[in-house]
Amino acid sequence: MAALHELNLADALAALRSGDTSSRALTEAYLERIAAHDGVLHAYLHVAADRALAAADAADKQLAEKGEHAPLLGLPIAIKDVLTVAGMPATAGSRILEPFVPTYNATTVQRLLDAGCVILGKTNTDEFAMGSSTENSAFGPTRNAWDRQRVPGGSSGGSAAAVAGGLAPVALGTDTGGSVRQPAAFSGVSGLKPTYGRVSRYGLIAFGSSLDCVGVLGYSVADGASVFGVMAGHDPKDATTSQQSLPPIRLNGSSSLKGKKIGVPKEYFIEGLSAEVDAAVRAAINALLAQGAEAVEISLPHTEYALPVYYIIAPAEASANLARFDGVRYGYRADEADSMDMFTHTRGEGFGPEVTRRIMIGTYALSAGYFEAYYGQAQKVRTLIRQDFERVFETVDLIAAPATPSTAFKLGAHSDDPLEMYLQDVFTLPASLAGVPGISVPCGFDGEGLPIGLQLIAPHFAEDELLAAAHSYQLDSDWHTRRPAL
Ligand code: GLN
Repeated sequence: MAALHELNLADALAALRSGDTSSRALTEAYLERIAAHDGVLHAYLHVAADRALAAADAADKQLAEKGEHAPLLGLPIAIKDVLTVAGMPATAGSRILEPFVPTYNATTVQRLLDAGCVILGKTNTDEFAMGSSTENSAFGPTRNAWDRQRVPGGSSGGSAAAVAGGLAPVALGTDTGGSVRQPAAFSGVSGLKPTYGRVSRYGLIAFGSSLDCVGVLGYSVADGASVFGVMAGHDPKDATTSQQSLPPIRLNGSSSLKGKKIGVPKEYFIEGLSAEVDAAVRAAINALLAQGAEAVEISLPHTEYALPVYYIIAPAEASANLARFDGVRYGYRADEADSMDMFTHTRGEGFGPEVTRRIMIGTYALSAGYFEAYYGQAQKVRTLIRQDFERVFETVDLIAAPATPSTAFKLGAHSDDPLEMYLQDVFTLPASLAGVPGISVPCGFDGEGLPIGLQLIAPHFAEDELLAAAHSYQLDSDWHTRRPAL
């Protein structure tokens, strides 16, 4: 048997059921990895060791009883620190929430607990999920498990590094404009962003409410799919969740790509795309063709507007969502006698520079006199971007493209230039604005040994097709099985 922290989910669950291992042994193995490596990686903001071990013991008791068990009983998991876990600190990577301890579980967290998962802790994130490198965390950056001088991607960089480094078998992330797919690509793991409305946002600390999606990062597509399967579906606590039932996710041992039409968008193979990423993604597309798929060149003509549109809409929604952090209701409060001073000092001291920048841009874009020119206009172009996808999905089953323009960059490389940082999202923003599901899977390494991600995108609510195709790719490739030496 492989080392406990290297088991895939199916094998880990089988070993738990057969008694070859216990939830305690598995949980301890991950806690030991965390103790040994998280001092350097800083994937976690909070490690819930005692609580995890108690939950593992409870799971072991149930496992010892005969009969049906919850599907993920005894499986450890890490949670991005923008989702609430009752009784565990929730910071969203910000000082302004310290020391907030929520009293309820996010629906996604509740469903994982109901499925028998053991929560290892909360993972690092850019402040309020705003960023692409995890350097915007108020608690210090996370490092890439493949090269500690580099970022893991963001904003779910803690979750990506935890999975890549074997500090969690699987982790929840969130994706508003790429925050699951981009860190998955940079960290060499598989990261799924579901359709907007497929997974509940209840208990997710809101960033851009019309864009926010809870997703999952795992070593393989199959690992992520098991977690997605238990957390997806309608939630009466989130009115934007769809009533559409989740089709059964069938990942079998043979290719499901036969006869599928794969759209290759010319707007994603442009100047600025690294030659090594380009080559690896094209090789991956050829591997899909070798399994019987057919490639079709397509055009998504409004792709170039996704970046400006997103950087109006997301900050506008953020400026409204973050108005609640005023020193009265949650977390940090500046020590000022006058209430007006208290509000301004709390926000001035509590929010970091990127969050402040977004609040200012967003407030401006929504203000009287500018609303139509910025927010209204951005919404119209967003519709055009969505229609691009709807139109091509009339003729193709899936879209294949790079997840990121380059591989992981060095810490500090883009810290002084917000626009350079925003450019990291060019290939992930369109699917977010359209609300369609996307996944990034490892498809190679560059000359410096850094992972490269292939992005697959499917029509609204076609996660079954998306996961089946990505899984098929992994049947004939072994990029996702490589692990960094820590
Ligand atoms: N990098 C993008 C941003 O900074 C996306 C973040 C996200 O998806 N949460 O807004």
